[in-house]
Amino acid sequence: MGSQVSKQDADLLRRLRDGNIIEEVKAGDMNLEGGLIVVSCADGDQMVDEFEHLRGLFHDVSSNVSPEEKIHFFGLNGGGLLVSGHWPDPKDGEVLLKHISQAQTLKGIKTVALFTHVPCGAAGLVQWSVAMVIDQLINAKLRIKELNPDTKVICLLHVDWGKCNGGDDRRKRTYHIKKERWLAVRREYL
Ligand SMILES: [Zn+2]
Repeated sequence: MGSQVSKQDADLLRRLRDGNIIEEVKAGDMNLEGGLIVVSCADGDQMVDEFEHLRGLFHDVSSNVSPEEKIHFFGLNGGGLLVSGHWPDPKDGEVLLKHISQAQTLKGIKTVALFTHVPCGAAGLVQWSVAMVIDQLINAKLRIKELNPDTKVICLLHVDWGKCNGGDDRRKRTYHIKKERWLAVRREYL
């Protein structure tokens, strides 16, 4: 599912990182009490790394609860983008929404983490740029909150910098997308 990152997209990601429009996710960014529903792309190249980042956050807030017990993980190609309401096949999103809602009821989980990642093969298939992907992840958040206003939703962006910068860069990072800052940048520059 890997694909290449365009120069324009790589430049945008660096600008977002350097301008703190995306920030490395911290335990304090989410209410992790009661667990976390995670919606991620199934891409095995990144999914394990995403999961490890989240496990680390749970260790930061609580050392006596196993992180594996607290993470309710859904993985389908495209991850959180499927729920945006603009994915070409709306059925994927409907299925995910049903499962998210069911998990909330069954487990009493209040927080949902929506992942997208760069580069994502599924996003590449529908030719969504990084800007489009961030917009659609925010749409997905709004859609979940529309269905259940009490749900806290965090938008996360996983970046494989090696595939953005080329060469020997092996960094992979998980960022929290700062919605208001993104919307301001989008109006101003894009
Ligand atoms: Zn993907």
